[in-house]
Amino acid sequence: MKNLKKQDRKIYNAIQGELKRQQEGMELIASENYVSEAVLEALGSIFTNKYSEGYPGRRYYGGQEYTDVIESLAISRAKKLFRADHINVQPHSGAPANMIVYSALLEPGDKVLGMDLSHGGHLTHGHPVTLPAKIYKFIRYKTGRDGKIDYKELEKVAKKIKPKIILAGFSSYTRQLDYKKFSSIAKKVGAISMIDIAHIAGLIAGRAISNPVPYFDIVTTTTHKTLRGPRGGMIMCRKKFAKAIDKSVFPGFQGGPHMNNIAAKAVMLEEALEPSFKKYARQIIKNAKVLEKELRKYGFKIMFGKTENHMVLVDVFSSKEVAGKEAEVALDKVGITVNKNVIPDDPRSPMDPSGLRIGVPAVTTRGMKEKEIKKIAEWINDAIENRKNNKKLNQIHKEVIKLCKKFPIYKNLK
Ligand SMILES: *Cc1c(COP(=O)(O)O)cnc(C)c1O
Repeated sequence: MKNLKKQDRKIYNAIQGELKRQQEGMELIASENYVSEAVLEALGSIFTNKYSEGYPGRRYYGGQEYTDVIESLAISRAKKLFRADHINVQPHSGAPANMIVYSALLEPGDKVLGMDLSHGGHLTHGHPVTLPAKIYKFIRYKTGRDGKIDYKELEKVAKKIKPKIILAGFSSYTRQLDYKKFSSIAKKVGAISMIDIAHIAGLIAGRAISNPVPYFDIVTTTTHKTLRGPRGGMIMCRKKFAKAIDKSVFPGFQGGPHMNNIAAKAVMLEEALEPSFKKYARQIIKNAKVLEKELRKYGFKIMFGKTENHMVLVDVFSSKEVAGKEAEVALDKVGITVNKNVIPDDPRSPMDPSGLRIGVPAVTTRGMKEKEIKKIAEWINDAIENRKNNKKLNQIHKEVIKLCKKFPIYKNLK
């Protein structure tokens, strides 16, 4: 970054600081990952200069011979990866992708049956502070005692309220979903079935968990979580919804697509088609299971019974008598980054909930395996139990940095 260094020292320094933070920190936020240097190059390319409103072959501006190549490749690679009938790669991110779907298929006041937010659902699935919740009516289903979704209750509610959309998907839930049940309940009540795979898209792409695309009318995702691409969104759907979705993306909701971002998505999609990505996805799940087992050994209460994906949700408050926020701060001090999280029907406030969400996609990208995960679990326990002992925290922090340096990232970036 020699130009930036010369021209704008303040921004350059912040980027260097962030690079060091990423290199030396143990990243356990379940929604984060490290993109490849090839993805970074595409993202930083001159495609950022180009306006290309419309779709390949049908644009509003001239000079599209290369943007069409990029977007067509992104679409064909994504179709191959997810076996989707139709795909739109233009959504700027996950939240707008969901809003785009709602506005394509719903009238104001229409009902959506989605996962309760404290049971794992996402803000964009109906949190009162969001725009969708002001326009549409969201009703929630929950998980049962066994940690699985209570499908009987879901069907009962669906029959009673007759939602226009039944929405599956989550950002802090650890079990596999029963795609067939969702789709059969939606059929029974005449609802559109939709799934938001933002968190698990990489596990699906790597065939580590089964593909929901054949079972749902609409599938939304982010591209930057387990999928390990640039920040962005995508919408897949059955042929009969293709026109409505495309029109809702543009001109309904967005203007010009971010073509540099779509180029980076295309690079990521090719990476995800490689056999090595399958290994990556399988290793994520192995690592998460080891993390669960080890944390259980240290006395942490595991929510939803167990994990079947890339993250673990623990109730730190009932296991360690420490609030989520305080545990998060203690882990920050040793260079381990996680986020406090609500647990189902959390008795504490959302600003200081009972839980911690811990995910392994980023450390797995660094190459960490079972042995390192065991060590991480030990540090998590030690840091929380010794949260008032700064000397001990400093000592753990040194060990964390040492392990991160053994699994380097971005060696060639300057
Ligand atoms: C992360 C996430 C989103 C939002 O994605 P952004 O890119 O942050 O807008 C939407 N849905 C789910 C389930 C998510 O986990």
